[in-house]
Amino acid sequence: MKTYREELYYFTKTRRAYINITNDVQQIINKSNIKDGLILVNAMHITASVFINDDERGLHNDFEVFLEKLAPEKPYEQYEHNGYEDNADAHLKRQIMGREVVVAITNGKLDFGTWEQIFYGEFDGMRKKRVLVKIIGI
Ligand code: ZN
Repeated sequence: MKTYREELYYFTKTRRAYINITNDVQQIINKSNIKDGLILVNAMHITASVFINDDERGLHNDFEVFLEKLAPEKPYEQYEHNGYEDNADAHLKRQIMGREVVVAITNGKLDFGTWEQIFYGEFDGMRKKRVLVKIIGI
């Protein structure tokens, strides 16, 4: 069995953003030369998510509205966590959208359902952040 590890970096110009990272992840699989196995992709920050869903702009706007209803960014003083920081909403949004995904690799490709794509969800951006990719397989 082989293993392979690499980090991806993302810097968003806005506080919140969704980035389709499927191609970046597939390129790492290609480099790893692993044809059959499992891939873990996780945000290395507690204010960002990695998740799988549809690459459809309307849905991404729906995520924004949904998350703002559950954990609105403002007013900042509504959260006990805020004070030194103002990102309590980002921690909560990340908790809802999840930390990581695990996907099967078959014949060297991500073994997805029809509309599945991997996204990096940023909830406290405007700084460089990391995503870990770890592959095990043969
Ligand atoms: Zn914080």
